[in-house]
Amino acid sequence: MDIMYKSTRGDAGLYTSSAAIIQGLAKDGGLFVPQKFPVADFKIEDLCGMDYKETAYTIMKLFLTDFTEEELRTCIDRAYDDKFDTKVIAPINEADGAYFLELYHGATIAFKDMALSILPHLMSTAAKKNNLTKDIVILTATSGDTGKAALAGFADVKGTKIIVFYPKDGVSPIQKKQMITQKGSNTYVIGVNGNFDDCQSGVKSIFSDNDLASRMSSKGIMFSSANSINIGRLVPQIVYYFYAYTQLVKRDAIKVGQKVNFTVPTGNFGNILAAFYASRLGLPVNKLICASNENRVLFDFFDTGIYDRKRKFVLTSSPSMDILISSNLERLIYHICGNDSAKCASLMNMLSSDGEYKIDEQMREAVGMFWAGYSDEDKTMQTIKRVFDSSGYLIDPHTAVAAGVYFDYRNREADTTPTVIVSTASPYKFAGTVTRAIDPSLVSDDDLETADRLSKLSKVPVPFAVTSLKNAKILHTTTCEVKDMKDTVKSVLA
Ligand SMILES: *Cc1c(COP(=O)(O)O)cnc(C)c1O
Repeated sequence: MDIMYKSTRGDAGLYTSSAAIIQGLAKDGGLFVPQKFPVADFKIEDLCGMDYKETAYTIMKLFLTDFTEEELRTCIDRAYDDKFDTKVIAPINEADGAYFLELYHGATIAFKDMALSILPHLMSTAAKKNNLTKDIVILTATSGDTGKAALAGFADVKGTKIIVFYPKDGVSPIQKKQMITQKGSNTYVIGVNGNFDDCQSGVKSIFSDNDLASRMSSKGIMFSSANSINIGRLVPQIVYYFYAYTQLVKRDAIKVGQKVNFTVPTGNFGNILAAFYASRLGLPVNKLICASNENRVLFDFFDTGIYDRKRKFVLTSSPSMDILISSNLERLIYHICGNDSAKCASLMNMLSSDGEYKIDEQMREAVGMFWAGYSDEDKTMQTIKRVFDSSGYLIDPHTAVAAGVYFDYRNREADTTPTVIVSTASPYKFAGTVTRAIDPSLVSDDDLETADRLSKLSKVPVPFAVTSLKNAKILHTTTCEVKDMKDTVKSVLA
């Protein structure tokens, strides 16, 4: 079955998967979704003997139907190689009565590597397939982790340039250092005087500027996106939900067919949407537990049926989840209103004109599989300490938001279903916060020194991605105001 993609907002055009990957966002501002949802051609049993790459091929081929087997396998081979510091790619660790799925063993030690290691390969393959001769310019807004993972993925990839906008004062010192030391003659990193939502809205408005697009087109340039709205990011993320499940089967934690919960620390709703897609493909899922930090717009949404972005933006210790407009939620909205793109478009228009929308009873019933919670800053710190004290296991603040919400869920709902906590960053990416939670006396002004001390205490080694920052040269110093983002792009590409 060929899977074609269409917009969530009504544009009737149908796109192949490769065309949707190149374009990123639909022309009407909607997100690409499969016109018909693929049907699994495998049994879970079949996946149990597979390694990560084989699992990836089995899942991804269902969605990327216009890629040949050779093309897709080559992309997968190039992505999930020794850039990851373990052959398992996404190992599971048991602690405090839960299974932690570690998605942070890639080049930039955050879960974004899972998709951004493969996206550049999918994109350059897609460009070739579509006889594209233009240079692809990736525009990315980042709350910290996407930026570095995208820079690392696209650096020196022929026929591409990448421009990353990050909130100047809204990322961790290590995240910032990772980005501004990025090598590659095709990489541009720009600090914006604003928050992540400002960066994201700025990038969206550059994308929807048709005038600019046609001017760039005549210069042989086209824009695309590496943000989690790209279907080429979403599809690779479905893989590790199946892979986590088969690992639990292998370690006899569950029997094939038994349901599990996934708890996902959520910002833009990409990761947890991939879990939802996995369940639609037949993965036995009981609850998808959506964990927010103090920016609890998603908690309120699941609680009340009202999505309301009109609230104060809070900077937290889990910056990659400091988001008030969860872009990927639009895909869930589209699916739960019965793939009704007119209805989806009208809700999204309300969001941009009134700052809020409300879903009806039927749609609320359709999200019954989701359970939502949030963790405030104190609780997040306590959870880091609790897990370390009980198991000697280090978790980063994002993972701790999820763990804290899961412990609440377990207490309140008395649900004993085996649960996977999706672990999205290495504790060393946020060494200052993690150490402050465990033993504040070890915190130094220098995050790299703090990381060393935390390692001595925990016996967990500091990953190369952090140690290599010590002597890295700063290569990017450009900053701009929110209103000047478009001009900055123009001058970079001039
Ligand atoms: C991006 C990110 C998240 C949020 O994932 P979404 O797909 O945006 O919901 C959580 N934790 C970390 C460490 C991240 O980098």
